[in-house]
Amino acid sequence: MQYRSTRGKVHGLSFSDAVMMGLAEDGGLLIPASIPKVDLSEKPYPELARHIFEQFAPGLPWTDFIARAYSKAKWPRGVAPLTKLGRHHLLELYHGPTYSFKDVALQLLGELFEHLLQARDDSMNILAATSGDTGGAAIYGVRGRERINIFVMHPKGRISRVQELQMTSCLEPNVFNLAVETDFDGCQQLLKELSSDLEFKRRYRLGAVNSVNWARVLAQTVYYFHAWHQLGSPDTIGFCVPTGNFGDVLAGWYAAQMGLPVERLVVATNDNDILARFFQTGVYRRGPAVATLAPAMDIQVASNFERYLWYRLGDDPLRDFSSAGEIRVEGGDPLWRAGRASREDILGTIRETYERHGQVIDPHTAAAVSVAQSFEEPLVCLATADPMKFPEAVTEALGHTPAFDRPGFEGLPTRCFTLKARSQDLREFVASAVDTKTPPPG
Ligand SMILES: *Cc1c(COP(=O)(O)O)cnc(C)c1O
Repeated sequence: MQYRSTRGKVHGLSFSDAVMMGLAEDGGLLIPASIPKVDLSEKPYPELARHIFEQFAPGLPWTDFIARAYSKAKWPRGVAPLTKLGRHHLLELYHGPTYSFKDVALQLLGELFEHLLQARDDSMNILAATSGDTGGAAIYGVRGRERINIFVMHPKGRISRVQELQMTSCLEPNVFNLAVETDFDGCQQLLKELSSDLEFKRRYRLGAVNSVNWARVLAQTVYYFHAWHQLGSPDTIGFCVPTGNFGDVLAGWYAAQMGLPVERLVVATNDNDILARFFQTGVYRRGPAVATLAPAMDIQVASNFERYLWYRLGDDPLRDFSSAGEIRVEGGDPLWRAGRASREDILGTIRETYERHGQVIDPHTAAAVSVAQSFEEPLVCLATADPMKFPEAVTEALGHTPAFDRPGFEGLPTRCFTLKARSQDLREFVASAVDTKTPPPG
């Protein structure tokens, strides 16, 4: 299987090259040259995963990767258990090491990176910016691995305490947490500046773990099949997915192209509803960015959307977006529906789900469950984070703090470096940590 860019200037990459490249060098996203059909017979999760990965990337030691990434020790309740919620279901994807669905992809990506770097006798320095969940999941994917350092910037004092402690309590010498004196956009700006400095990028072999990486989307296709098997392989199935960067729901769309009988894909957004508006009107136009109770979905321009649009519009589908401020796509696809959950919807749904079903859900999952309520047809709602990661919102919704069944991180020793929001300071930090194995003082 070969990989190509959505902008048409990068072709013929192997799976391994696509994983190492992350974002295509022409600025596009890497996609498979074709989408193979997969065998729909029921299999345990590890075998299902291996079968799917082999269609897209034959010849890698998938059995070993999967055994390590999805071990019982890391996922004590399994990778994607399904529970009933009235006429709908919850697909619980948050039982991994950092209690968010991002572990499904990032645990596997850690294995892949290490293997590929060993084969190439190379090393890599991952630079990431996080508003909360990605950073923790990425750190847990690569902590303690040889040949990889990871530098994760978070906006100082602006992420939840659980998210901060989860990252900073990783003391491995290859993990560098950077509390940057700016907001999340400021962190992303720094990441962009260093990644577009090609000389620095090559010299320090900067790598990326954000959801533009094809391996992340591929890893997420597996649980769509697994959910269908757990329901007894019905004639059709529908999903409702809390959406930010469009990586998770796109994996569901790929699963449908691979032969899973998906009849409905519902995109659930919070007040940042650019994608919900697109699927309702065919017009893709930026709105104001607002902070919500579901911060991992506070995204206006979703990077993975370009992958989907390529299948609708062809090469460089967002070419006119920045100049025109919007694009229009004619003709809908009956597979898609969309809805938006307001702050009140999210809080009300957390409360109702607890009162009716005795289940505590997090604000992102609540956005999906809220949108699913307006559908008569049964849907599988993807549950993307453990509620214990968002205790403030859950407490506000319920009027009390429930007994979370996960341990917290209070009292653990931490390691974190404070940085001014200046790209030169970041360059010096990375250079010093990589060249001398010690971060600069201060
Ligand atoms: C990242 C994240 C999402 C959004 O997923 P996308 O793939 O970016 O659409 C939803 N919920 C939680 C808890 C997340 O961490």
